[in-house]
Amino acid sequence: MEIVADLHIHSRFSAATSEDMRISALVYYGKIKGLDLIGTGDAVHPKWIQELEEELMQEEGGLYVSKSASESPRFMPTVEVATVFEYEGKSRRIHHLILLPSLDEAKQLSDVLKTKGNIEQDGRPTLNITAAELIDLTLSVSNEVEVIPAHIWTPWWSLFGSVSGFNLVEECYQDRVDKIHALETGLSSDPLMNWRLSRLDKYLLVSNSDSHSPLPHRLGREANVFELTNLSYKEIINAIRKIGRSKLKYTIETYPQYGKYHWTGHRACNISMPPQDAIKLKGICPKCGKKMTLGVEQRVEELADRALGYKPEGSPDYKYMLPLEEIIGSAVGASTFSKAVQTKYKMLIESFGSEFRAAFQAPYEAISKIAGVEVASALKAVRENTVQIKPGFDGVYGEIEFPQLKEKKKLKGTLDDWS
Ligand SMILES: [Zn+2]
Ligand SMILES: [Zn+2]
Ligand SMILES: [Zn+2]
Repeated sequence: MEIVADLHIHSRFSAATSEDMRISALVYYGKIKGLDLIGTGDAVHPKWIQELEEELMQEEGGLYVSKSASESPRFMPTVEVATVFEYEGKSRRIHHLILLPSLDEAKQLSDVLKTKGNIEQDGRPTLNITAAELIDLTLSVSNEVEVIPAHIWTPWWSLFGSVSGFNLVEECYQDRVDKIHALETGLSSDPLMNWRLSRLDKYLLVSNSDSHSPLPHRLGREANVFELTNLSYKEIINAIRKIGRSKLKYTIETYPQYGKYHWTGHRACNISMPPQDAIKLKGICPKCGKKMTLGVEQRVEELADRALGYKPEGSPDYKYMLPLEEIIGSAVGASTFSKAVQTKYKMLIESFGSEFRAAFQAPYEAISKIAGVEVASALKAVRENTVQIKPGFDGVYGEIEFPQLKEKKKLKGTLDDWS
């Protein structure tokens, strides 16, 4: 069975999250999106754990479902933590995603971590321990706990982050590096970019949304598609640890340009540029003379030892997709939350059952009949990778552009080729 899983989200107990980040909303929107498995996020926060215990029940296989919903996505206890530590005279700030076999282990880990940082202040606690110590602490709870370096390329708070990260996985996790099996690529990079580093060949590349809101244009915008015999914690962990046959079929990726840190740039001056231009300017903003924020593309360029296009043998595939509401919005020239976009979105979900089914499987003629030829054309461009995106930079999301929509008259003609 094919399982679509988004394992990295945050509850409303994390900073800067939507008040709606509660289980009922995750069940509701998870179904609309087409997610089979969702990480709970924040699973060491005492209040969130309490809520999870009240609202979820464990099924055979270890995963959880909602007690009250008739059809519920599965839930896996997960949490993201930040570690802050010194290495070679420099402060290193790293985010790690942690997968847990059950809420019992989540509570045990919560007890262990509360001596290392304030676990009640933020659902994503900041801990004053090294990355290697974090591995030891998780293993003291259970060797079924998995730690995955989170969004490894973002400038701040990541393994390869230009500001406070490392150049090697080994430098970060030291003698516990053998416990790391997978890396989360983050929104601003895709597998193609990561495959440029031969040192990453041994790691499974996973993708998650890191959503702070339950709304479908955030939840599941990146995800993992597993092919499993049984949907259980053990099978997911084995897939991540690459035990047995490869079970991660592909990841769902937004275009890396869509991410907030793809190009190098300076938000305050609205200046952004590709690596080669930024290198010429020595990373200095041409408008104000301050240092620009180094984008993920440039950071990958710094560490890569291969040209773009190489695929390591046996690596899972990937498929690009953008949030359907944003595709509709760009196609009709309206904002994501406008009535025009929401009406079309709802009609597509009702017709095809979920966003993923509409986005990946629905025939163009059917989409065109329901949501209009512009939307069908825009989705076609995404499926065929002919969409253009103004790359994101320094915290600003990329902007989607559909050049084919500028010549609307021609669209009718192209419909004939869609069957
Ligand atoms: Zn993070
Ligand atoms: Zn996060
Ligand atoms: Zn500037």
